Amino acid sequence: MIPYFDAHCDTVSRCLQSGALLRRNHLQLDLIRDRSFARRAQTFALFHNGANPPPDGMWAQCRRLYDRFCRETAENADLVARCFTGAQIDEAVSAGKTAALLSIEGAELLECRIELVDTVAAWGVKLLNLTWNHRNLLSGSNREDPEQGLTEEGRSFVQALESRGIYADVSHLSDAGFWDLAHMAKRPIVASHSNARSVCRHSRNLTDDQFRAIRDLGGVVGLNFCPAFVAENGPSLDDLVHHAEHFLALGGEKTLCIGGDLDGCEPAAMGIGGTEDVPRLYKALAARGYEASLLEDLFWNNLRRLF
Ligand SMILES: [Zn+2]
Repeated sequence: MIPYFDAHCDTVSRCLQSGALLRRNHLQLDLIRDRSFARRAQTFALFHNGANPPPDGMWAQCRRLYDRFCRETAENADLVARCFTGAQIDEAVSAGKTAALLSIEGAELLECRIELVDTVAAWGVKLLNLTWNHRNLLSGSNREDPEQGLTEEGRSFVQALESRGIYADVSHLSDAGFWDLAHMAKRPIVASHSNARSVCRHSRNLTDDQFRAIRDLGGVVGLNFCPAFVAENGPSLDDLVHHAEHFLALGGEKTLCIGGDLDGCEPAAMGIGGTEDVPRLYKALAARGYEASLLEDLFWNNLRRLF
């Protein structure tokens, strides 16, 4: 059995949309399947596409997503524990439970309102993506206004995140926003689910310089299973391994982690139907000769260190 600490999934949104339950479902991740890992921790993202806001607004939707997360974790307290700190993660894992952490994918879920940062910090949010695919008040994104960096509001928002112990997450951010953030950051920054642009040329992936900047700030980068970010044509498990090897070659032994984007993409082409297939990635890396201690860092320690 392998350890598996993952930085990003969209399962809570799927549960809210479809009525699926976190305990056991036909999605890509559930608590019963988590039992087949030696240790299991998952950052659950709250996500809603800002191009299609509900009538009562994005903040109302964010609270519905949070309520769903609370309900799923409370109703399954035999299998999962909400965690705010590293010590709580260790405690949950010792008790044989999934350690559940919280993130928010896109500041538009807070309607970019800085005064709500305190509220989500109190919820235990640990990572927050400044943007999803759309530009917002804080910055351009990788897809919209990629030349637009952090606005004044964006800079203030980052300071508010840092002061409340929330890591700014650069996955989906514009390149210009990335560099503005990297230059002002006083704490590590995170790319929870982003691959290498040198391996697969996609604006959602990180350049080598961006990866090095995250490494030098003490942050982490989560390997993403989403086919479009793995290879342009016919992505395979080998292609995914190639991203990991590329990051490792950039000195990423303490930077690389897993951020599979499960329930946010369809990685079946790589033989990954859900968490049950994550050991295939571990075995493919082990087959390349990487030592168990390095794999322990990738699949657990590098993310655990942040909390
Ligand atoms: Zn995403």
